Amino acid sequence: MLHPLRLFRASPHLRHFSTMAAPARTFDALVVGAGPAGAAAVGNLLESGATQVAWVDPLFTGGRIPLEYNEVPSNTKVTFFVQYATGVQPFRDVIAQAASKGENAFSKLEAMDQNTGCELSHAGELVRFLTDGLRERDDVSPIFGSVEKLAFDAETNTWSASVTGKNGPASIAAERVVLASGSHPLSLPAFSAAHPELREIPLDISLSPSKLTSFVGPEDVVAVIGSSHSAVLAVRNLMHANVKEVRNYFRSPLRYAQFMDGWIRRDNTGLKGEAAIWAQQNLDAANWRKHANLSRVCLTPGADVDEDGMIHNNVVEDRSATTPDLAHEQAIYAETLRDVTKIVFAVGFARNSLPELVDAASGQAFTDLDFDHKTGTFRAVPRLYGCGIAFPQEVTDPDGRTEHAVGFFKFMRFLRAVTPTWVNDKPVAEEKK
Ligand SMILES: Cc1cc2nc3c(=O)[nH]c(=O)nc-3n(C[C@H](O)[C@H](O)[C@H](O)COP(=O)(O)OP(=O)(O)OC[C@H]3O[C@@H](n4cnc5c(N)ncnc54)[C@H](O)[C@@H]3O)c2cc1C
Repeated sequence: MLHPLRLFRASPHLRHFSTMAAPARTFDALVVGAGPAGAAAVGNLLESGATQVAWVDPLFTGGRIPLEYNEVPSNTKVTFFVQYATGVQPFRDVIAQAASKGENAFSKLEAMDQNTGCELSHAGELVRFLTDGLRERDDVSPIFGSVEKLAFDAETNTWSASVTGKNGPASIAAERVVLASGSHPLSLPAFSAAHPELREIPLDISLSPSKLTSFVGPEDVVAVIGSSHSAVLAVRNLMHANVKEVRNYFRSPLRYAQFMDGWIRRDNTGLKGEAAIWAQQNLDAANWRKHANLSRVCLTPGADVDEDGMIHNNVVEDRSATTPDLAHEQAIYAETLRDVTKIVFAVGFARNSLPELVDAASGQAFTDLDFDHKTGTFRAVPRLYGCGIAFPQEVTDPDGRTEHAVGFFKFMRFLRAVTPTWVNDKPVAEEKK
């Protein structure tokens, strides 16, 4: 195990960055974030020819999944975690080097039934295992900290990164920067301000049965807003926590991924795995009615809703693409939230705040980044790239439906396709020669 402060002591990596204002040398690439996407970015950059990669993360423990979602059932089959882990040579090297040392996170996943899901704790352990292996390499310089600012020098075609670490600030120079900085659950501050009597249970807590028990009691009526994978799991966990009632508010019906001939309809947005099975058995059609402590409230005008705001038919038009009728929703909330004590917002995820991005010469901020979901580039900013849940690939299925591809193996597949072009981009000055 590496000491977290290794880079601040004598180390071969010390020549690559500096705690002084001017960086000591220039890395081929800097990767911001060490979740599954950041690890895959490091692996693919090395495989594509980068010779020195700087890698910054506050913890290097595998990103958000092992921090928050260990108890969540995966929405992908085990085989996709295994395919992620074997998708690039530097990962395969880590696996090969560990093979003689007994069981590890990869061998555990490989031994499981590949066609079922698993607890995300296994996926989190896998990222940690691969990350630890990558950090041992001479061509990877891990830096514990947070990238606060990135300045692009158009004359030298290099980025300069300001990093705040445990041992104070450091500066890193790199020819290109990859943002793999992740996302967090969205809240609805305006909604909370309008309903100060409701105590919010963070979505991450509602996804952890062991933590949830200390947030709720048998007297609680808990509203869950949303009908996504996370919303379904929040409803299930709250019911298992034996609250007085769970009231699930939704705009569109539950939508399931469908396994077609060679492709998956709603692969990224539909319910899959354990959450889909539980939703079918306990929420869909009239099934929710068999639970005395569960009710569902449709927020969409035109649904068959009774005077208490409770839905009688679970079949409403898919309105997800249209603008919600907020006045209608407010009227429903006013009527039905009166006895609710706590609330969970399962309404999506938003990008984590990015480092400040500026042009070094003018000091002007790059404001409109204009991310290209097909190439992982930013149209308005040179030599900056994105991947992972914050900057996913856009895919179109045979129905013509466009989605963002989010998942371990999808990050790997995207990076395998685009990283060679990122590494082989040439500075403008070089191209002119
Ligand atoms: C509830 C849930 C269930 C999921 N289930 C699955 C599943 O079953 N299968 C699947 O394949 N995918 C699943 N996903 C999707 C996806 O794999 C995860 O969201 C994954 O964590 C995204 O990885 P990431 O690397 O993009 O981001 P993260 O895991 O969020 O990692 C980002 C990292 O960047 C760091 N960072 C951020 N800003 C900075 C900065 N300025 N400087 C340095 N470091 C920084 C963060 O600290 C963090 O460590 C699930 C997602 C959720 C939310």
